[in-house]
Amino acid sequence: MSVKKGKGPIFDPGLCRCCGAIKKCRILNVEYESFGQKEVYSDMIMDCFGLLLSHLDGKPSERLICATCVQRVRDAILFRQQVLKCEEAFLQVKMYDEETKGKYFYIILV
Ligand SMILES: [Zn+2]
Repeated sequence: MSVKKGKGPIFDPGLCRCCGAIKKCRILNVEYESFGQKEVYSDMIMDCFGLLLSHLDGKPSERLICATCVQRVRDAILFRQQVLKCEEAFLQVKMYDEETKGKYFYIILV
């Protein structure tokens, strides 16, 4: 059974493809909006984990994701972004270190 809601289709109950639970679900590859941000869960799973789920062109009732898994995917994306941001900051500090080390050597040599 599908119930059309303002923010996109909701299946209740449906089988979540990410945890196997039967509960209220959203469709994996339909665009939803959360806090003004558009999200497509199958794309997020692909971007974050490089996982391509099968049969996303099948029946809507066979490509569902529950609210718990939606939250976990969102968290995973945020965690990934956080790691990337830290990596960037780390590399910048590292580069700065290298530069100043270089200068230091230069001063000693001169
Ligand atoms: Zn789930």
